[in-house]
Amino acid sequence: MKKLELVSGLVLTGEDFEILPSDIVVEDGIIRAIEANPQAPRTWICPAFFNAHTHLGDTVAMDCAADGPLTDLVTPPDGLKHRLLAEATQNELVSGMRASIEGMLARGISGCADFREGGPAGVAALREAAEGLPFRPVIFGREGGELYGEGIGISSTRDVADLDQLIENARKNGRLVAFHAGERDLEDIDSALQYDPDIIIHATHATREQLRECVDRNIPIAICPRSNWRLGVAGSVHHPPLKLMQELGCTLFLGTDNVMFVSPDIFSEMAFCHTIYKTGPEDLLRAAIGGSVLMGDDPYIRIGARANFFTLDPGSSALRFSRNPLRSLIQRGEGVSVGKNVFNA
Ligand SMILES: [Zn+2]
Repeated sequence: MKKLELVSGLVLTGEDFEILPSDIVVEDGIIRAIEANPQAPRTWICPAFFNAHTHLGDTVAMDCAADGPLTDLVTPPDGLKHRLLAEATQNELVSGMRASIEGMLARGISGCADFREGGPAGVAALREAAEGLPFRPVIFGREGGELYGEGIGISSTRDVADLDQLIENARKNGRLVAFHAGERDLEDIDSALQYDPDIIIHATHATREQLRECVDRNIPIAICPRSNWRLGVAGSVHHPPLKLMQELGCTLFLGTDNVMFVSPDIFSEMAFCHTIYKTGPEDLLRAAIGGSVLMGDDPYIRIGARANFFTLDPGSSALRFSRNPLRSLIQRGEGVSVGKNVFNA
C-alpha cells in the first residue's frame, strides 16, 4: 500500500527557490508532483536544513567558561571539551546529544554531519541518541571509531599520527573523509588537500590558490563563521573569505561546530552570515541545505527528490507582512517557530 501525503502552501521550489503556490504530492517519501494551486494556503514551505558540521557530544559542556584560545578549548587530547567529555557518563552524553537533535528538529534541520569523539562507543552513542527520530546523522568517527560511522573526521593534519594509514583504511572500506583545515591559519590546508577529502571544514584562512584547488577537485567546504568568531580565529569579513569563495565557485555548506559554545541553529548561522558577510539569501539557503548531498540526497524541493521540507506559518506573526519570504527566512528566522516537518529519514 502506497503512502500518500499532500502538503500545500507557498513552496520554495528548485535550485532558485522560486516561490510557487502549490500542492506537493509525496508518495512513499518521494516528491512525485508539484502542482500549481493559486488557492494554496499562505504557509511557507522550505527545504530542510542540513547542519554540515557539528560536535554534538559536547552538548554536555554547554557554555562552560569557554573564553580561552582554541587550543585550550577544543584541541585533542587535552582541550577543555575533551576533559569534560571524559567526565560525562554515557547516559549524560546520549541524552545531551538527543536534546540537541530534538532542538535541531524543531528548527527545520533534518540531519547533520558530526565529528564524533570517543571511538566506536562514541559513534554508537550518537546512533542511540538519534534512534526513532526523523533525523539522519552522518557520523565522522575518530579515535578508533573511523570505520563505525559513515566516515573519518580528522581534527587537523597536525594533530594526528599515522594519517596515511588511517585514510587508506577508511577509503578501502568505502568511508567518507573529512578534515578540519585552515581554522586558525593556512598551514594545515595543503596537507589536508593531499588526501583528496570529501569535505573540508572551515577553510577560514584559505588562500585563493587553496580555494581554487577545492573548486577544481569538487571538494565542498563547510564553513562555521559563528564558531570562528567565537573562538577568535576570525574578526573580519575576510575570514572565512566568503566573498572570494563565492567568486571562485566553491560549494559551500553551513555548519555550526561545537555545541558547547554555539547553538546548532542554522537560522542563526544564516542571519549572522547575512549581516556580517552580506551573503545573499539564495546563496545562504543553498549552503544551509546542501550538505545532505553527503548522504546522496537531492536537497531541493523538486520532482523525484526525497521529501525533506518543513512548513512555517507566517499568519501567526508579523511575518505575514513579509514582501519577500526568502529574505525574511534568512533575516528573521531566528525567532519564528517551525510548523510541521515532512522529513523522510
Ligand atoms: Zn569542528
